[in-house]
This record gives sequence, C-alpha cells and structure tokens, in this order.
Amino acid sequence: MVIGILGGGASGMAAALAAAETEDNNVILMERQARLGRKLQATGNGRCNLSNLHGGETHYHGEDPGFTAFALFKFPPEETRRWFATLGLYTVAENSGRVYPYSDQANSVVDVLRFALDKPNITVKLGFEVEKVKRVAEGFRVISGGETVDCDKLIVACGGLAGTRLGGTMSGYQILRSLGHKCTRLRPNLVQVKSDWGSLPALKGVRANCHVEILHDGVPFSESTGELQFTEQGLSGPVMFEVSRDVCQGGGAWSAKLDFLPELDGKSLNEMLLRRRDTTLPASELFTGILHNRLGRVLTQAAGISARGLISALSDPEIQQAAEKAKSFTVVLTEPLGMDSAQVTAGGILTKDFDGETMESKLVPGLFACGEVLDIDGDCGGYNLQWAWSSGRLAGESAGRESQ
Ligand SMILES: Cc1cc2nc3c(=O)[nH]c(=O)nc-3n(C[C@H](O)[C@H](O)[C@H](O)COP(=O)(O)OP(=O)(O)OC[C@H]3O[C@@H](n4cnc5c(N)ncnc54)[C@H](O)[C@@H]3O)c2cc1C
Repeated sequence: MVIGILGGGASGMAAALAAAETEDNNVILMERQARLGRKLQATGNGRCNLSNLHGGETHYHGEDPGFTAFALFKFPPEETRRWFATLGLYTVAENSGRVYPYSDQANSVVDVLRFALDKPNITVKLGFEVEKVKRVAEGFRVISGGETVDCDKLIVACGGLAGTRLGGTMSGYQILRSLGHKCTRLRPNLVQVKSDWGSLPALKGVRANCHVEILHDGVPFSESTGELQFTEQGLSGPVMFEVSRDVCQGGGAWSAKLDFLPELDGKSLNEMLLRRRDTTLPASELFTGILHNRLGRVLTQAAGISARGLISALSDPEIQQAAEKAKSFTVVLTEPLGMDSAQVTAGGILTKDFDGETMESKLVPGLFACGEVLDIDGDCGGYNLQWAWSSGRLAGESAGRESQ
C-alpha cells in the first residue's frame, strides 16, 4: 500500500516512521521546503523543547480538547522519550517537566529523525509543494506543478499558519477544506502582546520573574507566573505566552496586572524599602538589589518619586506607593503580534469530523490528519510538539495498519 504524507515537519516525520514500520507499506513524504523539519529546527530558541512530562489533555485547547486523549494515552511523553532514545537521541527533563535534547540543539532532533527516515520503504520528496489533492477511485492523487503522486492513503500533516517565515501556511487547511472538512477561526497563540505603554523603550530587553493577571474589561481572564520579557512593542516571554491565548480578541479593554515580586508580600516589601531610608542613596536606586535596575527606576518614577531626591527624604506614603507599584502594576494591552511571531495557531480543522482513536476522517475514508493543522493547540512548554509526535504516530500507525 502507498501512504502519502503531506508535510515533512514534526508530525509528518513521526507519521512516516510509524507507517513505514510495516515493511510492505511504501511511504512517500512530501515537503514543500528544501529540507525537512525547518520549523522544528527553530523551536525552543534553538534548543527544541520536545515534550513535557506533565503532559495530558488538560494542557490542550480547541473546540474539543478531549480529542487529544487517546493519542496522548497511546504515545505519552515517557514513550516519546523512549522512542527518541531508539532513534539515538539522548534527552533530559528539567524540574518543570520540559524535555530537551541533551545536546541542547534542536538540530539533533531533526538529524535523528532524518537519519531514521533513510529506509528503503520511505521516499522523501523535498521542494514538493502540494497544490491540490483529488480523490480517485483507488485513493488520492496529489498534484504539485506538473508532477502527480498517487497513493492509497493520505495523511495531511501540513502544520498551522503560525511561524509563517518558518513554513507556517494555509495550505493544509485549504487541502482539507477542498476534501469537505471545516475550519474554525484561526488566531495566533503563544505570542507577544503589544502595548503602547510609554516606558517600553526604556525597558526593552529587561527580564523579570512576574505574576501576570490578564484583565478583560476589568474582569480576570487568565493568569500565570514565570519569566516576563519586555520588548520595544510589548510584553513577551514564557509567562506572557502562557496567558496570550485569545487575549485582545473580540473587543473590550485588555490589560495586564504585573506583580514583580510574587514571592514577597506587600508588607514585607514595604518594610524592606523603609529600611533603605538609612542610606544616602538617590531615590532612583530605591529598588536596587531587588529588581532589575531599569525596571526599578521605571517603577520609582511611576510612583511619582523624583529621581533627584534621596531615599532618606521619602515619606511613608511615597515608599508605600512604590511598593504597591512593584506588587501591582497595570499595563494596557492593545493587540497580539501576528501569525509571523506566534508559536502556534489556535483553531484549525474541526476535530469532530475525525476519529480520535485513528486520526482518520469520518468524511473521507483513507484520509488522515495530525499535528497543528487540526483544531488543537497546547500550552507553552513542549506540549505542541508532544501533540505532533502523538497524533503523527497514531495517524501513521492507523494508516499503515489498514493495509494488512
Ligand atoms: C519559533 C517557534 C518555536 C516553537 N517552539 C516550540 C517548542 O519549543 N516546543 C513545542 O512543543 N512547540 C514549539 N513550537 C510549536 C511547534 O513547532 C509546532 O506546533 C509543531 O512543529 C507542529 O508540527 P506539525 O507537524 O503539525 O507542523 P510543522 O512542524 O509546521 O510541519 C508542517 C510541514 O508541512 C510543510 N507543508 C505545508 N504545506 C505544505 C504543502 N502544501 N506541501 C508540502 N509540504 C507542506 C511545511 O513546510 C512544514 O515543514 C514552536 C513554534 C515556533 C514557530
């Protein structure tokens, strides 16, 4: 049986390897870019956070996150690590559960997959951009320019729209729609959120441990604690990615309430700052030794304290005001950056038209889909790649098994 796979990214490569485990199957992996796993190579800031040991369906979103349950049960994070070990990749897990290659290089992940794909029953077609898929009596006809590939089973693993420069495209959605499937609204997720706060240029590049609470029309919307990064345009970093899903979507006023010292209560901070009145330091140094210098200065200024005065001259209410700014600072949010900058696409092909135990279409027998093209997106921390491996392997195994 010939199994065609559209997309040589994370889920497509996992599907190809699973389908090729049955030696009688001939697998044709079609990738539009010049090399396999281009996006994978850029993941985790070049380190590739390939899984998370705390994985489970609660870390996923979409109209039916429960759709992920079977694939994750069949191929959980521990199994992913074992599978990668058989491919020759040594992985390590951080305390947070995030799994990385020991080499700390995303390249290693792409390399072991690429080497594993070098099998007699797998053909890899690079620079092969699939434009159209037609159903024919014996299966599917895949068309790219003047070239066609006929296959009995077809797995669509074209990924999502996020990370456009790394290969994110509408292609997978369009192909599945042309075969009768429906797509939900697509939004950028795990993305920086813009703000027009005037102090951003002064804070560009500053990182801070922070508790972030997102408010929509003053009502709590989402929250998380972790590393916040200031950019020239807005708020970024892992903690912002955690809360970025659907922020600034659907109108209303959006803001982020930032607590820069989540492990210290306001009273202790106030006492700590009051003790600084014994020094001869200028008021601009009020937070020195506690927070990043530039952040400390911005907060002191926001508390209405003149940088020219001395800490020793500050009144109790002034100190309290500065402590309050550090514990609860509100930044107005305007919009998320676009798909170009997003790590993952929220929304996608409706999963209710697929069987979660096989990844096969309920509308078109012999058609499978996996990875980000489906209406599933995971939290920040390795969950999206875990979904790509789990759903990709399940799709490949199911498509392959049916040939017997
Ligand atoms: C910058 C960045 C960092 C990230 N970091 C992490 C991380 O550390 N951990 C994590 O879990 N997730 C991370 N992600 C998300 C993760 O990379 C994706 O969710 C995952 O790669 C999705 O796998 P996929 O196989 O569905 O799609 P992809 O990996 O995007 O693969 C799809 C492939 O299909 C090809 N293709 C598309 N259309 C066609 C066509 N018509 N014909 C032929 N080929 C086609 C594309 O070129 C691409 O190679 C990151 C994403 C980005 C953008």
